[in-house]
Amino acid sequence: MTEHDSAPDTIQRYAGYPRSERQRRLLALAAPLAERFAARALAHDADASFPLENIADLRESGLLALTVPETYGGLGANELEHTLVIERLAWGDASTALALGMHLSNIGQMAEGGLWPERFPALCREIVEDGAMLNAAQAEPELGSPSHGGVPATTAQPDPAGDWRITGRKIYTTGAPALRYFLVLAALDEPGEPVRLGSFLVPSDALGLRIEKTWDAMALRASGSDDLVLEDARVGADALLDVRPVGAPDPRAALGLPWGALTLGAIYTGVALAARDEAVHFAATRIPTALGKPIGELPTVRQKLGEIEALLLASHRLLYGLAADWVETPELRPVLRAQGGLVKSITTNNAVRVTDLALRITGGAGLQREPMRLERLFRDARAGLINAPPDDTTLQNAGRAAVEGR
Ligand SMILES: Cc1cc2nc3c(=O)[nH]c(=O)nc-3n(C[C@H](O)[C@H](O)[C@H](O)COP(=O)(O)OP(=O)(O)OC[C@H]3O[C@@H](n4cnc5c(N)ncnc54)[C@H](O)[C@@H]3O)c2cc1C
Repeated sequence: MTEHDSAPDTIQRYAGYPRSERQRRLLALAAPLAERFAARALAHDADASFPLENIADLRESGLLALTVPETYGGLGANELEHTLVIERLAWGDASTALALGMHLSNIGQMAEGGLWPERFPALCREIVEDGAMLNAAQAEPELGSPSHGGVPATTAQPDPAGDWRITGRKIYTTGAPALRYFLVLAALDEPGEPVRLGSFLVPSDALGLRIEKTWDAMALRASGSDDLVLEDARVGADALLDVRPVGAPDPRAALGLPWGALTLGAIYTGVALAARDEAVHFAATRIPTALGKPIGELPTVRQKLGEIEALLLASHRLLYGLAADWVETPELRPVLRAQGGLVKSITTNNAVRVTDLALRITGGAGLQREPMRLERLFRDARAGLINAPPDDTTLQNAGRAAVEGR
């Protein structure tokens, strides 16, 4: 990684945050971790290994409990504080930020939505006391994303003892090597009953559960987005969190909270900010022989840097505008609910464009894996387009709402 100015100032410059002492304290927790994660990222990207040492650092810092309510011993962060921390960490390593962000946003949704009150307090205790992590395991090879409404091939059958037996394969289970719990979507296979969907909280030590290290992708190679394989995995009756008819939305999605959109927006904006920092440093310090001055003095390079600045300003204003409005202006929430998908779409596309522009500025040097990290940032940004919801779904929903609301 190149030594240069880094994200705290730049988040401040684009978005005007941190503004409060508490926001400053949270960013001060995240900033040194981001630097540390950035230094480790090259090696983990190279062999697609999951950075367990980053998770250990997060555990020690208390950030694994960032969104756990204060009543349960957590830091009780709201969407705005969460977004700041995730963006800052993603500046260092987007893979780690994705695993953390998914864990924290699931907890944030449960807390704010009052979901699963019979399991939630104990879960919070495990996070605060043991540093447990969880994530959703929803996507499947044939199903793709369950957001399209299909029935999962993963099934859960009740057994005579009152337990459940779950069989199936989940793909893209981010953070899998570090997770204590998986939120598993399954089709309930009950005698004489129509198929319904169930969400299960499956512990990682359940018999019949294993992780298959399958994640060998172009982007976010260190995110541990591996397969979760369940072969007649046995869980207790209390693992079943909720039941719904086929076609009904996931209870977390039904809440319409912006945790997911802000998490993804923060991750890919953090990636874009890191790419910007690399490009600015390169432009200010690279003096080609024939030019005799830094390439940052060339109008062509300045224009590209200016476009990067414009994209980052737009992303930050949107991201923190949505987060702050959500937190500070509850009466706007009916309108804000519809904006999360668009903010995710705009910020991820901006990140793709910023990383592309940064590579154009740096030329061949940016293609190298070291000392810059642009080639990794360029690849990582692409994952934002695949993380749900995809642009086509978001844009068609927005278009339909525009016509119907006319
Ligand atoms: C890095 C990364 C991490 C992830 N982490 C997790 C995780 O932790 N947990 C988890 O559950 N999931 C996770 N996902 C999965 C993610 O949320 C989506 O479910 C998944 O990326 C969708 O996969 P797909 O694009 O391969 O498949 P598909 O859903 O099959 O989509 C493929 C293409 O077909 C289109 N398409 C498919 N079906 C339809 C349809 N019915 N109507 C219209 N268009 C359709 C899509 O828009 C897309 O263009 C992760 C994904 C990535 C990339």
